[in-house]
Amino acid sequence: MSYFANSVRINKDALVMYLDMNSFFASCEQQRNAALRGKPVGVITHDSPYAAVIAPSVEAKKFGVKTGMRLSDCRLLCPHIIPVTTHPAWYRQVHVDVIGVLKSYCDDVVVKSIDEAAANFTSYRLVYKDLSVVARQIKADIAQIHDYLKCSIGIAPNSFLAKLGTELHKPDGLITITPDNIDGYLAKLKLTDLPGIAARSERRLLLTGIRTPLEMRHSSAALLRKVFGGVVGDYWHRRLNFGEVDLYSTGENRTMSATRSVSRQQRENRQSLDAMLIALCTRLEQRMVKSGVFCKEVTFYIRYKDHTGWDTKVKLAQPVQDGMELRSYILQKMAEQEQQRNMPTLLTNNTDSMGVGIQNFVSDKVLQYSLFDNRIRKDVLRKAMYNIKDKYGKNIVRKGSELYEPKVMKDAIGFGSVKDMVATGTEVRNKYLLEEDE
Ligand SMILES: [Mg+2]
Repeated sequence: MSYFANSVRINKDALVMYLDMNSFFASCEQQRNAALRGKPVGVITHDSPYAAVIAPSVEAKKFGVKTGMRLSDCRLLCPHIIPVTTHPAWYRQVHVDVIGVLKSYCDDVVVKSIDEAAANFTSYRLVYKDLSVVARQIKADIAQIHDYLKCSIGIAPNSFLAKLGTELHKPDGLITITPDNIDGYLAKLKLTDLPGIAARSERRLLLTGIRTPLEMRHSSAALLRKVFGGVVGDYWHRRLNFGEVDLYSTGENRTMSATRSVSRQQRENRQSLDAMLIALCTRLEQRMVKSGVFCKEVTFYIRYKDHTGWDTKVKLAQPVQDGMELRSYILQKMAEQEQQRNMPTLLTNNTDSMGVGIQNFVSDKVLQYSLFDNRIRKDVLRKAMYNIKDKYGKNIVRKGSELYEPKVMKDAIGFGSVKDMVATGTEVRNKYLLEEDE
């Protein structure tokens, strides 16, 4: 499920520009160090032969180097690749400069990630006769500040198609998609060329007999609802037919919750109550990963058999996706309350049910700002784990915290310890967290 807060309007007169910086981190490195220009560069987060390249330069890409490959594997494809460690403050500075240029032409700019932004030019229709002239000017303005940086720009009646425009021509592209030319562009694409359509959705589309983006665009909303299971199908229909779905989507008003009632056996045992809390937090983590969001607020309640209860709410200073982190905030509040009431635990043997709710979501795209906080490795890893689960089945990989036995859980290696990672081929696994399929 995706979470969109905005209502959807079909408006062929709308005008959105999408800007995507080409090979952003690597180009930033080439911008700051001229000796790297024209050379295959691989940006890494830490200096190690096993570090993953998080951003290859245009030149490295030509050798087949892709984001996420291990430096040692990149060297097999491209022996002269130059590893460069990240300079996050510099990337942020360049980002601010690029957004500043966009804002000098349009006051409705929505930042999508550190190297992507959409600008809603709909109300500027009378101001600018030809938006592609503006796009060229924006490229020139960026080059004036940072001469080595290139971007691809897409122009379309909605932000999805504008973004698609940036994908069609890299680097330094400029593509305008209109109701007149859209079918021509879509005819050249595979389903997975559409941003947001991965192998899994492709499989479902194929099963329904929708083989190409063109056929997808001309499918009814009803058919796409069947494929995607509900409202997400409507969104796809609208995206491909000039409706706006994504421009201002934040999902801030949504809530996700997980609740459990407690059996008699469970309430006798403090450890199984704690394991239950872990299970609830983990379930919410899975849903956040799938929806591509982090939360900034968590609520927790306990209900007792005598119908009394206890509630708490935590506003999080940093957006959180990790289930064990959610749990630690809840435990902290519980500890405060236990101390106040002078009782050993709130999870007494009168506990009847408990629930965790999360709200105030932030898209993980926006969070790429904090890409280089320590938690990013965890986040990438978490996504990789769920992808493996999707591909090979739920029981193939488990986090330590998903193991139900509290004793086992205590000994499990934390998810964040990247040094425990083992790479086999393209699969990334944590040897401590692997389990046989039951
Ligand atoms: Mg980019």
